[in-house]
Amino acid sequence: MKLKANWSYPTAIRFGAGRIAELPGACADAGISKPLLVTDRGLADLPITTRALDILEAAGLGRALFADVDPNPNEINLAAGIEAFRAGGHDGVVAFGGGSGLDLGKMVAFMSGQTRPVWDFEDVSDWWSRADGGAIAPNVAVPTTAGTGSEVGRASVITNSESHEKKIIFHPAVLPSVVIADAELTVGMPPAITAGTGMDAFAHCLEAYCSPFYHPMSQGIALEGMRLVKEYLPRAYATPDDLEARAHMMSAAMMGATAFQKGLGAIHALSHPIGALYNTHHGTTNAVVMQAVLRFNRAAVEDRLVEAAAYLGIDGGFDGFYAFVGELNATLGIPENLAAMGIADPDIDRIVAGALVDPSRLGNPVTLSEDNTRALVMELLD
Ligand SMILES: [Zn+2]
Repeated sequence: MKLKANWSYPTAIRFGAGRIAELPGACADAGISKPLLVTDRGLADLPITTRALDILEAAGLGRALFADVDPNPNEINLAAGIEAFRAGGHDGVVAFGGGSGLDLGKMVAFMSGQTRPVWDFEDVSDWWSRADGGAIAPNVAVPTTAGTGSEVGRASVITNSESHEKKIIFHPAVLPSVVIADAELTVGMPPAITAGTGMDAFAHCLEAYCSPFYHPMSQGIALEGMRLVKEYLPRAYATPDDLEARAHMMSAAMMGATAFQKGLGAIHALSHPIGALYNTHHGTTNAVVMQAVLRFNRAAVEDRLVEAAAYLGIDGGFDGFYAFVGELNATLGIPENLAAMGIADPDIDRIVAGALVDPSRLGNPVTLSEDNTRALVMELLD
């Protein structure tokens, strides 16, 4: 094992129920005096969004909103957001929402002063260094779900609306300056979204934990993140206003995203093309493919998951862990396969091709090939 790596855990996080009231202070810390609040269409008219705008307005920061954002945000949403940012003379973004609002908000701040197309900054080698670092506006992130962890990440996932590929856009300065993690914002999530986003957090922890790279800090964070999901996701799902469960899930989401600096794997490598082709919910898709990927990786991860099972209080080693994932999915009403998700006749060739170029595949403990990936995709059908 090579004992050399790059680690980064620098986000300032204001954690606690009711702390959305500190949004003006967070903007001040980030150097933002005229923020554009970016969220998705589904959140635009909800009371939590109105309240955030009220808080900004009362502090003299205006109440500018951009919400023309699709569930899987694309370059068209981004262009419209940049236009709103420039037209309004804004100096920073409040990225507000689940993964869609957070990812697009971060990109609006990043791209507002760039001249190259966003695809030039895909997370490939050092492409991020092509950006004009001095032209990047700051952002404050306010998660309203507990799953993506995008609030502590230096990248956004943007779907190319023409090729239907999901691209990871990376720059160190995309990292939010301040995060407000207020569990009260998550109590209104519909149960299916609580389930899907929570399983995204679990997938991040699981894949980071199983990736072969050297990152003991991530390893520990991923393990405790899985424990928090096991204890608190069923509670948050069953009792939406359980603030303690919601708070722990908010932590688990941030832990998953900090942990996956260590790498992701085949769960995400499959989920990205499936989501891009069929517009499925990201976290729910991860949950649907999770057991098939555990079977696929078994020989490489068995020892590690025996240890995880012991820490999580699961009997039966690898088999116990595997069964636990199935039971958790069932408890949360996760569909059993692609057909149950509404994908009756999936385009296997495109899913395989997408997985084989997805950067997440590089963290999978078993190398993905054309043949084994096709076999893995076939397992998702029944
Ligand atoms: Zn994810």
